[in-house]
Amino acid sequence: MYDNWEELRQAAKGCRRCKLADTRTNVVFGVGNPKARVLFVGEGPGENEDLQGEPFVGRAGILLDKMLLAAGFSRRDNIYIANMVKCRPPKNRDPEKDEVEACMGYLRNQVKLIAPEYIVCLGRVAAQSLIDPGFKVTKQHGEFIRKGNFWMMGTFHPAALLRNPRNKPEAFDDLLQLRNRLEMQEE
Ligand code: URA
Repeated sequence: MYDNWEELRQAAKGCRRCKLADTRTNVVFGVGNPKARVLFVGEGPGENEDLQGEPFVGRAGILLDKMLLAAGFSRRDNIYIANMVKCRPPKNRDPEKDEVEACMGYLRNQVKLIAPEYIVCLGRVAAQSLIDPGFKVTKQHGEFIRKGNFWMMGTFHPAALLRNPRNKPEAFDDLLQLRNRLEMQEE
């Protein structure tokens, strides 16, 4: 565990712990306020993220940013956004178990440095890795579950919302619930 961001970022940048290192352009470490009360966790970088080195900058990211903004959140201000794996899986396949395991130490270290109150899992891969291996997004999205020091919640992945726009209202409602909870517990 690193106790400062620069060391952690440098370690991730040079990482060769799994085969995704062979095909990446950039390590997509994470972005946002390191003192945020909320950490959002996606699955892994896609093509645009791999090229630009920042999470959620493609079509799904634009939708995510719009929904976040409407609920009072912004990556430039009051949240942090990271992924389960920091390097792009080829052809945007799901990250494999060994890749998620190899990368988990970086996410754990990010969680330790941010010390968020809430961790929001964007989509099945993050929710099944961090909340419960049997997590069903369509059934359990928006449920707040206490795990150790954190409140965890799983919601729809923005790429899934691009495919199924009818789920957008429910996904937005999950963000509003989060906003309400944060306001009830103003620090
Ligand atoms: N999808 C993800 O899960 N993460 C990104 O950073 C981009 C797309």
